[in-house]
Amino acid sequence: MDNIKKNKRLLSELKDISVSCDEEVCGFIKDNEFHARKNAHPDPKNFFLIAPSDCVWGDDVVLFHSHPRHAGLKGFSDWDLQNQKIFDLSMVLYSVKNDEFYYYINDD
Ligand SMILES: [Zn+2]
Repeated sequence: MDNIKKNKRLLSELKDISVSCDEEVCGFIKDNEFHARKNAHPDPKNFFLIAPSDCVWGDDVVLFHSHPRHAGLKGFSDWDLQNQKIFDLSMVLYSVKNDEFYYYINDD
């Protein structure tokens, strides 16, 4: 996770994608590159969901999603933390409204 926190290019890319979308942006970070995925949730402005066939797993894979401008929540939602148990991956979240990144380290 430290390499992601220090990767200004990647963080700025994630921020730009998130700011330009009024729905939750989601995807995976692998080898310091972001791989965007379709948000398959029926309510993509407030939740995200990625089809299993679209998923990437691995020890070095990190799940990313955004909270768009209308979402005032600081940090991860209960939904995010429940999702984390399914994905079993570390997570990065960007909040457009708060202009902040949040990190969740998966320790299994
Ligand atoms: Zn979320």
